[in-house]
Amino acid sequence: MKINEQLVYQLRMKRSWTQEGLAIAAGLNLKTVQRIEKRASASLQSKKALASAFEIDVHDLNYEEKAMKPCPECGSENVYKYKKTIGTNPECLPDMLPKLGSGITFRADFVPVVCGDCGYIRYFANDKEREKLANSKHWERL
Ligand SMILES: [Zn+2]
Repeated sequence: MKINEQLVYQLRMKRSWTQEGLAIAAGLNLKTVQRIEKRASASLQSKKALASAFEIDVHDLNYEEKAMKPCPECGSENVYKYKKTIGTNPECLPDMLPKLGSGITFRADFVPVVCGDCGYIRYFANDKEREKLANSKHWERL
């Protein structure tokens, strides 16, 4: 599956890890790390291992721009991405996931993507909040 190889590279640089250092931290072999950064493709297992090494959610490693263009809601190609990543700032966030905890999680290195035509914005809930969904009396399964 596709992976945001630029983010992998950025996160690795931020920690001053070599590819080998990342391989060790993630419990992957060096060839796997090299392949991921070169081909922007990784198995779900590798993605999970990298997310755990970087202490981020596995969704953060998704290839956002490609996944969001065309807009999954209206099909428009008029999709915008914020030029920088934004960090965690829970005080500024609306309660998008009431009764589940902290609501939407802007994790480190989250890049907002918005459709310029229909206004669709993509967010991800984190693992902790998703685990509560099935047993919450406030949420019903569609
Ligand atoms: Zn749209």
